[in-house]
Amino acid sequence: MHAAIIRRPTDRKTPHVTTPRLVAFDLDDTLAPSKSPLDPEMAELLVRLLGVVEVCVISGGQIAQFEMQVIDNLQGASDAALERLHLMPTCGTQYYRYTDDAWTQIYAQNLTDDEKTRALEVVERVARRLGYWETKTWGPILEDRGSQITFSALGQSAPVAEKTAWDPTGEKKNTLREAAQAELPDLEVRSGGSTSVDITRQGIDKAYGMKKLAEMTGIPLDDMLFVGDRLDPDGNDYPVKALGVECFAVEGWHDTAAYLEKLIPELQAAAAAS
Ligand SMILES: [Mg+2]
Repeated sequence: MHAAIIRRPTDRKTPHVTTPRLVAFDLDDTLAPSKSPLDPEMAELLVRLLGVVEVCVISGGQIAQFEMQVIDNLQGASDAALERLHLMPTCGTQYYRYTDDAWTQIYAQNLTDDEKTRALEVVERVARRLGYWETKTWGPILEDRGSQITFSALGQSAPVAEKTAWDPTGEKKNTLREAAQAELPDLEVRSGGSTSVDITRQGIDKAYGMKKLAEMTGIPLDDMLFVGDRLDPDGNDYPVKALGVECFAVEGWHDTAAYLEKLIPELQAAAAAS
């Protein structure tokens, strides 16, 4: 439903938090194309930003995605820069920091074995009943991400065009989500990517992750700025906006890069003046 995304003019206002202590980013379609590595230009901008503020990347994806998309492309960053980077896979139910020359998991709030078993059983059975259990797939349909079970209709690595063709309106995904949710009342079944559904404990979204980030860093939400491509009410970044965090809406990483070209010098000037 990309064509239906309407950004209200107010979303483009320069954020009030002109000198945030921390800038948090969504990953897919904000820092990089979906499931793709950072462009070298964006990697360089992130390193420059890390020179002035703490930076967080928060996504529904798991740490392997962060490694491929972000970490592996920040080879030129100093240890001091990496130590200011906060990684929150699976909406902040996991948290990684760079300490002693390595990426270290600080915490992981995983589902119990019983929760995982029920989530996997229900989503597969419901998908089969609805006729959505495909045989031509690109990688596994079901994935245990520790704190999250993910159903990807065409597999984890399906080409974007195939995914779009499978469910152009999002109707299949929404039907599956509702049917699975009805059978998993104690868990939360949420729309993930274009053909994916995520199952977590209740109340896990990017707002949850941002609150955890404030708790872990001691930086108040009021001193943070969030940048995302899906801040519309149906988007997976919207809970951060609803939480009251200052947000900046972008359409793709080029938009984010243009914004950072403006923001970084402002932050550098503010740091020099203080
Ligand atoms: Mg996104």
